[in-house]
Amino acid sequence: MSDNSKLFATESERVSFDLNHRKTIRYNMSKYDAAVDKGKLRYTNLELAKQRASYRKEQIMQNWDKYLIEFEQNMIQRGVKVFWAQNEKEVIEQLISILQQKEAKVLVKSKSMTTEEIELNHHLEKIGIESVETDLGEFIVQVAGEKPYHIVTPAMHKSKEEIAELFNKHFDTPISSTPTEMTNFVRGVLREKFISADIGVTGANFLIADSGAIALTENEGNGLMSVSFPKTHIVIAGIEKIIPSIDDLDLFWPLLATHGTGQKMTVYNTLFHSCKKENEIDGPEEMYVFLLDNGRTHLFEQDDQHEALKCIRCGACLNACPVYKNIGGYTYNATYSGPIGSIITPHFNGMEQFKHLSFASSLCGKCTEVCPVKIDIHKLLLYNRRDSVDAGLSPKKEKLAMQGFQFAMTHRKLQNLGSSKLKNVAAQKLASAAWGEKRQFPELKDTFNKRWRKKKI
Ligand code: SF4
Repeated sequence: MSDNSKLFATESERVSFDLNHRKTIRYNMSKYDAAVDKGKLRYTNLELAKQRASYRKEQIMQNWDKYLIEFEQNMIQRGVKVFWAQNEKEVIEQLISILQQKEAKVLVKSKSMTTEEIELNHHLEKIGIESVETDLGEFIVQVAGEKPYHIVTPAMHKSKEEIAELFNKHFDTPISSTPTEMTNFVRGVLREKFISADIGVTGANFLIADSGAIALTENEGNGLMSVSFPKTHIVIAGIEKIIPSIDDLDLFWPLLATHGTGQKMTVYNTLFHSCKKENEIDGPEEMYVFLLDNGRTHLFEQDDQHEALKCIRCGACLNACPVYKNIGGYTYNATYSGPIGSIITPHFNGMEQFKHLSFASSLCGKCTEVCPVKIDIHKLLLYNRRDSVDAGLSPKKEKLAMQGFQFAMTHRKLQNLGSSKLKNVAAQKLASAAWGEKRQFPELKDTFNKRWRKKKI
């Protein structure tokens, strides 16, 4: 058992029995479910839109290199500097050198899971640069010293009372503050930061090849503010975000909004083509784009699992997952949690340390049902399980148990030996060692032979 796997087992049990956590998550998820159910009704044929999106994404995967190079060329033509980074180390080294050249002190950051993936805030802290999260949910978790709990709603695990308490402790705001008062307070804090920041960092929801543009989707407008005031705009995006044309947005934008939050369209949808031109007043003077691999091409090489790269990070599979709802986002101990995180994390961060995530699923298929790009999520989890077994990563005890099971199942006479009582004791012991004390193995009443004979009579 890897260290991560042990931690996962203990944390799963702890969080599942945390009633406060359960209450908050159930409340927030119920709001999400109601909004998304309503949002989906706006589609006259949602299934067709999902099929198109899935097909388009598969086409993109087959021409991935072509579209990425087209995107790069179009960006360079407009004076944007594009860097390809194979991993966290490469992007951080290059980024730090840019920040040091500019003598940056304060950086504002819009919500971006890719920057979480490379632990940007941690690296910046080490060199004395203040990095401020500007998305309200991200701001809350940053103040709490935590990471995002969910890829779309980073502070989903916190109730408004807990946030009021947190702000009271850190900023001395009234403990009785309402959500509106707290939002206004954060707005005031962030305005100061937007004005004083040297650098604005964003991710990208889509990289558009034909027009050489970054598409950014957000509800608060803080992403736009993050690039309007600072002199330098830095984009850090995963290479799977590429789409061929601006025309594809009419399919992907509404699907992302509807499945992410239930909206028809997200409030702010912005396209960034370059830094400001000579005759323009606003905007950054320089723009850099980092195209991050970090395990994506490795995932692409997997014949059976590469379709996980179609993901548009809407978060719908997390919200649908009965496991996620009980164990919560932090238990995964990975940037991407929930069903999609369980597929991609072993390929991004190592099968040995993270294979257990692919086993943490009831395989109910709800994730596959809700996915807007029709990724066969529960099947991909099975492929990960298969690969981990093929790679010899199963624990010794499990291997022995499976060998014993195989032997018993292929030797009829052996199954008929011994009393049912003895078999029940052995089965319960084996089951509790594998499943824990909370799940009971069904009682064996008779041998298969006896039951079969009775049935035939
Ligand atoms: S796998 Fe599908 S449902 Fe899950 S986040 Fe990605 S696009 Fe959304």
